[in-house]
Amino acid sequence: MKLIAKTSFILCLLFVADLCFSYVRHAWHSQTALQDRPVPSALDPIVKQNADTLKAAASNKGISIVITEGFRSFKEQDELYKQGRTKKGNIVTYAKGGESYHNYGLAIDFALQKKDGSILWDMDYDGNQNGKSDWLEVVTIAKKLGFEWGGDWERFKDYPHLQMIPD
Ligand SMILES: [Zn+2]
Repeated sequence: MKLIAKTSFILCLLFVADLCFSYVRHAWHSQTALQDRPVPSALDPIVKQNADTLKAAASNKGISIVITEGFRSFKEQDELYKQGRTKKGNIVTYAKGGESYHNYGLAIDFALQKKDGSILWDMDYDGNQNGKSDWLEVVTIAKKLGFEWGGDWERFKDYPHLQMIPD
């Protein structure tokens, strides 16, 4: 019995170690994959196309969205990083210049737009009145298009944020 307990303890340890290792490898790999990419000066054409498709598909469901952010230069990213640290305001990013998908033209931020034209960051809003959150309906479409959603992140939830690495 003791031996079984010992063995399962060691197996558990190995399992946890393996989880940690694959997590680190994954994080490291996606970061280097990003930083090996060319630095553009606008949104990647495929990401742009997917953003337009998302907008149209949302519109088909009676949801109007606006893309509030797209490409961001390293310098603009560094300025944004200062917010909530050396500059006034709330922290809005954990990425410095070169660390955000926005810097490679691979990310967009969206918001909802009401009929009167006002912009809305409200995850509960149900403007098309089908009993579902408009925000999450947009996220569902975005994921089908291949976007990764910032709202799924463990460390820092970035609900308006969508990103992808086109094939
Ligand atoms: Zn973003």
